[in-house]
Amino acid sequence: MSKKRIVLTFPGRLVDQPITYHLIKDHNLMVNILRANVTPKEEGRLVIEIGGNKKDMESGMNYLNEIGVHVQPLTQEVGWHKDRCTQCTACISICPSGAFVVNRKDMSVSFRKEKCIACELCIPICPYRAVEVNF
Ligand code: SF4
Ligand code: SF4
Repeated sequence: MSKKRIVLTFPGRLVDQPITYHLIKDHNLMVNILRANVTPKEEGRLVIEIGGNKKDMESGMNYLNEIGVHVQPLTQEVGWHKDRCTQCTACISICPSGAFVVNRKDMSVSFRKEKCIACELCIPICPYRAVEVNF
């Protein structure tokens, strides 16, 4: 089974539609909602982890495309500005996914983009605005 983390952006007309239900039931996919930002009649965004075999993944993506849901990889949403980072390590303990890690030998901080779930917990913590989440 392959898995990926994606951001679904959907128009207000689809906000009350059971999109994840259809992905699971009709397309045999595993869906784990990591984050939801939904307001009635306005554009909605979901961050999900989705998994399944290649054929089911294709059919699920086709379904999303057909109903007008925009799909993009989660990694496009998060950016770390290394040049602004002072290696203060404040984000290490707050990050729930292990996206920020510190090398204990030299206390250098690094960002593993593929681990980030765009929870934004590090945004108010970082004193130098080194992380941006466009969500
Ligand atoms: S947004 Fe920040 S705190 Fe949340 S997972 Fe990504 S790096 Fe970690
Ligand atoms: S909180 Fe900001 S400045 Fe401090 S280590 Fe994390 S990203 Fe770098």
